[in-house]
Amino acid sequence: MPIYEFDCTDCGEEFEKLVRMSAIDDVTCPNCGGKQVKKKLSIFASSSGSSSSSASSSASSASCSTGGG
Ligand SMILES: [Zn+2]
Repeated sequence: MPIYEFDCTDCGEEFEKLVRMSAIDDVTCPNCGGKQVKKKLSIFASSSGSSSSSASSSASSASCSTGGG
């Protein structure tokens, strides 16, 4: 039996419960005892990799002055 996460819409209690798929509707909130609980969906790990690299090339001019007498 998998553990499902529930979220009570009545008191906002979040709890985990070991229930069957058919018994999900019979889950009650352990905090307030309400039946207004909804199963939390599996959260997919969404990782958005955004790499921005700004390359700025600066031209540096080296001036070499030679003073000769
Ligand atoms: Zn509750």
